[in-house]
Amino acid sequence: MQGIVKEDIRTSTKCVEVRSKENVISAINEAIAEKIGQQKFRIWFKNSTRLTLSDGLLKIGVINPFIASWLESHFSKQVTESARAVVGASCQVSFIVDPQLCDSHKAATFDWQAKPAMNSPVAVESGRGITQRPTYAGQKLKLTFDTFVVGQSNELAYNAAKAVINDKQSPFNPLFIHGGYGLGKTHLLQGICTELHRTKPTANWLYMSAEDFANQFVLALKTRKLDAFRSRIRQTDLLAIDDIHFLASKPATQEEFLHTFNTLDLGGRQVILASDSHPKMITQISEKLISRFVSGMVVKIDQPDFKTRCEICRQYARGMKKPISEDVIAYVAEHLRSNIRELQGAILKIAAFASLQNAKIGLGLAQEILAEHIGRCDPMVHISDIESAVADFFGVSSSALHSSKKDRTVSLARHFSMYLARKHTKMSSSEIGRLLGDKNHATVLMACKKVEEQLSRNAQLNWQGPTGNRVANATTILEQLEKSIR
Ligand code: ADP
Ligand code: MG
Repeated sequence: MQGIVKEDIRTSTKCVEVRSKENVISAINEAIAEKIGQQKFRIWFKNSTRLTLSDGLLKIGVINPFIASWLESHFSKQVTESARAVVGASCQVSFIVDPQLCDSHKAATFDWQAKPAMNSPVAVESGRGITQRPTYAGQKLKLTFDTFVVGQSNELAYNAAKAVINDKQSPFNPLFIHGGYGLGKTHLLQGICTELHRTKPTANWLYMSAEDFANQFVLALKTRKLDAFRSRIRQTDLLAIDDIHFLASKPATQEEFLHTFNTLDLGGRQVILASDSHPKMITQISEKLISRFVSGMVVKIDQPDFKTRCEICRQYARGMKKPISEDVIAYVAEHLRSNIRELQGAILKIAAFASLQNAKIGLGLAQEILAEHIGRCDPMVHISDIESAVADFFGVSSSALHSSKKDRTVSLARHFSMYLARKHTKMSSSEIGRLLGDKNHATVLMACKKVEEQLSRNAQLNWQGPTGNRVANATTILEQLEKSIR
């Protein structure tokens, strides 16, 4: 009898010990969540890490070395502080690959486009691992084909995106989508990923910006985890890299991306890319990469026409509490032409105002609400018209105009853009400067003065075009530019 009691006591003491250890771990988890915020905690820790504590060492177990190094570089400080707050000042933290977690997150097999099943950490990521849904930098992808309004300006790009997903064998690799700011490139890239996820949940895809690719590559180099980085990226069935022009002037990352592309292409896997300009117009990018890009399907998204703009406004309007009438939609679509973000912003502003004032949304109210907005965005000529005319004429990319590059051709093109924007739009010089290379208003005024001076003496100007050295007089350049803007 006594024996049984003793055994019971022993068991319950053990229970208390286990319990208290569990409590400590959950207290640490709570402290981490509080420090980094619930959202990040949910994405990076909850259900995807296993914390164990022994002899003053807290081990954060994860499923692969890449995640371990990512968590270490981003959250090491907060995790250590949280652990010390609960356990004591001497507690150490280490991020490790936990085999137990790997087993429970067994990689998903996939049969997309009849490929052999793969068992890799990558498959975990988009299959059943860290998150259930497509992820981008820890966020869920929201953009889908369903909400993409198709019109003349984006039809080709949309059909190409659909072909990548629907055709048994993708007809091109890579698919390269380019176009100006806010015209739907990211929407299409994410649309492809969400559609693939919906139709082939086990397919192994990855969406990331070129900036993330570059950062993760550099991190992998620094932490000697290149193999993990490569196996993660190169074993995907579909790799979507957004804003690929970001790789300009980064030769080492370009080289890495070239090998990534070659590996995926050889394995019959799909690459999709988005950029703000045509591959040949991205400056400071290797010839090898350019020829890879143009060997696939290069499609442009143009500015939407009036009909498409109306349809996009209607779609946003449907999501609002109060109905927005057709004349208001036509008014917005008529006055905001250059990008879709502006349309979204205008409809949101009207709807918010109407619900605050509890007013009916009529044309008069819309005009009043958008007066300032449209005053700024509806000049005789739009800045994006100027940008594309200047970029075409001088043979530079729009991204180069937005960058801080100072080479002769880009500077000349930027000076003309600033001059034309001052002359033909209602934008202030600060706004122009912010858009064109993050310059201040004094720089814009100086650029304008310089162009005026060149025009007054009709100076001969030379620059490096895509086909070699070019020369023209200042007034001829201006005439040609103004002709193509109109
Ligand atoms: P980009 O990547 O070309 O700068 P985005 O894809 O981010 O532009 O688009 C900007 C915004 O406009 C996003 O909110 C996107 O959902 C929306 N958008 C773009 N194109 C369309 C379209 N054809 N139909 C509906 N919404 C669109
Ligand atoms: Mg984008």
